[in-house]
Amino acid sequence: MDSLTDKVALVTGAGSGIGRAVALALAREGCRLVLAGRRGEPLARAAEEVRGHGREAFPVVCDVGSRAAVDGLGQSAGRVGVVQVLVNAAGIAPAASFLEMEDVLLEEVLRVNFMGTYYCCKRFLEPMIDAGWGRVINMASTTAKTAYPHTAAYTASKHAVLGLTKVMALETARKGVTVNAICPGYVDTPLTQENARRMAARVGSTAPAVLERFARTSAQRRLMAPDEVAAMAVLLAGPAGDCITGQGVNVDGGGVMS
Ligand code: NAD
Repeated sequence: MDSLTDKVALVTGAGSGIGRAVALALAREGCRLVLAGRRGEPLARAAEEVRGHGREAFPVVCDVGSRAAVDGLGQSAGRVGVVQVLVNAAGIAPAASFLEMEDVLLEEVLRVNFMGTYYCCKRFLEPMIDAGWGRVINMASTTAKTAYPHTAAYTASKHAVLGLTKVMALETARKGVTVNAICPGYVDTPLTQENARRMAARVGSTAPAVLERFARTSAQRRLMAPDEVAAMAVLLAGPAGDCITGQGVNVDGGGVMS
């Protein structure tokens, strides 16, 4: 039963939203943090917040959809120690109806959401196995299990992430590593706020009205908070998560029940 104290955790998409909340929650559990993301400024701010909890933080600008960039991230993280907790939270969610969707949109969403998760798993899994203990947590979505209109690219990418998670879990089950996905419903993050603004403009509504529609997809009729998703990541990363692997855990206020 390994505690998280002094473990090196790498969180992608750590500059905002869910990734930032997960990074801070893991810092509170005693992890040393490598924070990866596309934009330097929010990463630097998140790193300062982690240090505010008395933990080391190493921000690394990285496009997770590029294998070369993830190799560079591996080199930077290697100077901190062996990454034993990997949280893949970087993601994008542009919306478009299937008929209107351009190939480039699908390619970009798969590149970031799926290939980004894949590249990071590929780079960091083996050292975890060698160390005899590791945790991979992939931020999927309820769209990994169900579907909403105008989300073909996103839904396909998250189904793929959940599938990858399950296979990796099977292949690591007796190697000291667990691999899980978290499937949040709508979470109150910059991504959701931006989606609400864009959808409102498209359908001639207002962002608050669209957010209200998002909230109604949950049985609790509300958006989730990033900290609620982070709490699940901490559970899966910590000793309580020892026997949980290959799961897609819904954090969605009862919106999806499978
Ligand atoms: P967010 O936009 O607040 O944060 C995502 C972060 O990922 C941003 O900091 C962004 O800069 C970073 N990022 C984007 N592309 C990147 C790339 N190519 N390389 C590195 N970093 C990149 O979004 P969020 O709501 O916090 O979402 C985090 C994850 O949770 C995503 O995978 C998203 O699909 C998933 N998710 C979100 C919700 C929701 O309602 N917000 C629901 C289910 C799942």
